[in-house]
Amino acid sequence: MAIKYVPEPFRIKVVEPLRMLTHEEREVKIAEAKYNLFNLKGEDCYIDLLTDSGTNAMSQEQWAGVMRGDEAYAGASSYFKLMEAGKDIFGFGFIQPVHQGRAAEKVVFPLLLSEGKFAISNMFFDTTRAHVILSGARPIDCVVAEAKDPSKRAPFKGNMDIAKMEEVIKEKGPENIGLVVMTITNNSAGGQPVSMKNLREVSVLAKKYGIPMCIDAARYAENAHFIKRDEPEYKDVSIKDIVREMFSYGDLFTMSAKKDTIVNMGGLLGVKDADSPLVLKIKANCISYEGFFTYGGLAGRDMEALAIGLYEGIDENYLRYRIGQMEYLAARLDDAGIAYQSPVGGHGVFVDAAAMFPHIPYNEYPGQVLCVELYKEAGIRTCDIGSYMLGNDPDTGEQLKADFEFSRLAIPRRVYTQAHLDIMADALIAIKERAHTIKRGYKITWEPPILRHFQASLAPIE
Ligand SMILES: *Cc1c(COP(=O)(O)O)cnc(C)c1O
Repeated sequence: MAIKYVPEPFRIKVVEPLRMLTHEEREVKIAEAKYNLFNLKGEDCYIDLLTDSGTNAMSQEQWAGVMRGDEAYAGASSYFKLMEAGKDIFGFGFIQPVHQGRAAEKVVFPLLLSEGKFAISNMFFDTTRAHVILSGARPIDCVVAEAKDPSKRAPFKGNMDIAKMEEVIKEKGPENIGLVVMTITNNSAGGQPVSMKNLREVSVLAKKYGIPMCIDAARYAENAHFIKRDEPEYKDVSIKDIVREMFSYGDLFTMSAKKDTIVNMGGLLGVKDADSPLVLKIKANCISYEGFFTYGGLAGRDMEALAIGLYEGIDENYLRYRIGQMEYLAARLDDAGIAYQSPVGGHGVFVDAAAMFPHIPYNEYPGQVLCVELYKEAGIRTCDIGSYMLGNDPDTGEQLKADFEFSRLAIPRRVYTQAHLDIMADALIAIKERAHTIKRGYKITWEPPILRHFQASLAPIE
């Protein structure tokens, strides 16, 4: 193996004991959970890779900040500290704290989208797609073609296909496109980064047609690391300056702070132009749905930890270690001939379950099959990013076929060690060896109308 593990740029001060169930106990737990990993208890998972969202380990500075949190209802000092950090890093005129990313979507999307409208993205994340649909509009993905070929190694597989984007604008009419959303990194395509060049080009095109551009910025710091690593003109630019330029191309941003900002709860919503008529409407929606605009559903201590996390998340040593973990795990899979969205992205390894189970069709959910097997094999909890997650066409009710069938091993920040990564690789290798003995996938026995993967019940097809 050519890759060396990048040592942790921190040491451990507080530990959280783990419990390992037996194989037999796990078989019972997953059946009781109706083969939906969201129904498992956290304590029944040995290594929990369900998501990197809100599962981060905070630093001693952040915990100290928790004690300093100002809980004033209006105008708390923690709010002003967060505003100062947000404006310094993103260069936006107006920033609204919210309790998480989807709250930002809920507050702002209905102001820009409605029935008959469309929103274009490189690729919508699941809750973002849901909020487009809930506003009455329809989402359209225009990711570059190479994103859909997991074995093709190319930089910036998260990019927007610019030609396709313009085609869609012309076909639907620019007046019917309410919003362009650039998801950085591109979560659903495997945490794949978007290049600065692509952000620039999308912004030029959006401006040409008068369409506002929103950055869905959950993993902006990881995206900045990839720009520095792979876009030659940025190799000597600081991460902070790269972040500033990335955000300069957006008119607004929605952000789940539960990712790169290394907290357990929080989100932000930004509008570049503080005088935009959107600002008053956002404040009004926020007061109705989230809380007064100087806390937006967060406790003062949450805002304090978030303000500190904004800086820790863009630390260059931390980012090298962070992406180094992905590269280490991916190199172990390369050695074993296990396919994944490659090159590996920013927040996890997206294993190509369609390649591991070529005999299982999309409507039997190969991604979900591998997730269930990983739990049975080693108590590892992951999640499907494939047809099971994508769900049904909102207009016809028919199962959609996703472009990929991934099982996502999302890696929480500053939580797991090299030994844990080895357990993940070993489990995948063991499953690959017996993959041909798993003949069929799953059927859905109950599902809610939207975001079904969180709640649905499944059963193995006999
Ligand atoms: C997590 C995420 C969201 C939603 O944020 P929550 O904090 O989970 O509500 C939106 N977009 C992207 C790209 C995300 O990764």
